[in-house]
Amino acid sequence: MTQTHRYYSAEPIDGTHVSLTGSEAHHLLHVMRASPGARVVLFDGRGGQYDAEVVACGRRAVELEVRTYQPADCELAFEVIVGLPLPKGERQRWLIEKLVELGVSRFVPLLSRRSTRKGDRRSVAKLASYVIGAAKQCGRNRLMEIAPACSWQEWMCQPAPRRWIAHFSGQSLAEIDLSESATTRIAVGPEGGFTHEEVARAMDLGWQAVSLGPRTLRMETAALVLATAVGLQTR
Ligand code: SAH
Repeated sequence: MTQTHRYYSAEPIDGTHVSLTGSEAHHLLHVMRASPGARVVLFDGRGGQYDAEVVACGRRAVELEVRTYQPADCELAFEVIVGLPLPKGERQRWLIEKLVELGVSRFVPLLSRRSTRKGDRRSVAKLASYVIGAAKQCGRNRLMEIAPACSWQEWMCQPAPRRWIAHFSGQSLAEIDLSESATTRIAVGPEGGFTHEEVARAMDLGWQAVSLGPRTLRMETAALVLATAVGLQTR
């Protein structure tokens, strides 16, 4: 079965019956034109997936019967948490999609001295829909968490065995030992960069500055390069 037949149930799947409504029902009914008898895969974000069959189609809802559970899992072996200021418009969708594909566990919209967007509740809610779309496409059965916006001052104090801040002054990524599997926090600055004090304070707290070469990368690119490097060591 191809990944395009995956649907997300916002309600936990506990019994043998699932009702899909909203955008998932719309996708099944009006995009895939499903009818009774169609086989799909359902996941509810708690891990694993279910084979299911469409049993009834309404105008706005689809009823499905759940058949078998498969404990399919393509998560990384450890948590990767990525914090960066929200980019503009369409770049937000792109960023979230790629972070999901790379197996990142949590995204935190960071507020720093030079960040320009506040990461208000409405824009954060929109990001959750991008997470679901990307999880359907890439086969993840757990949803990347979208954390509430957090100040860099506060976020940099949170512990993790490995904490990287993307900065030109740092050690080259190519020289860093990636053999250890460990929860990793990755921080990337806004287009205007972190201030000198913000970087210095993070270094005092034990963050490691990591350089990605002499070119100025978009913040999304820097986040993806670091998430890729740390994720690839596992699978
Ligand atoms: N004008 C800013 C550039 C900001 S780019 C400055 O001079 O700092 C946005 C963020 O992406 C940076 O804060 C940094 O975290 C990350 N970044 C971009 N290019 C990078 C590189 N080559 N190495 C490490 N981090 C980089």
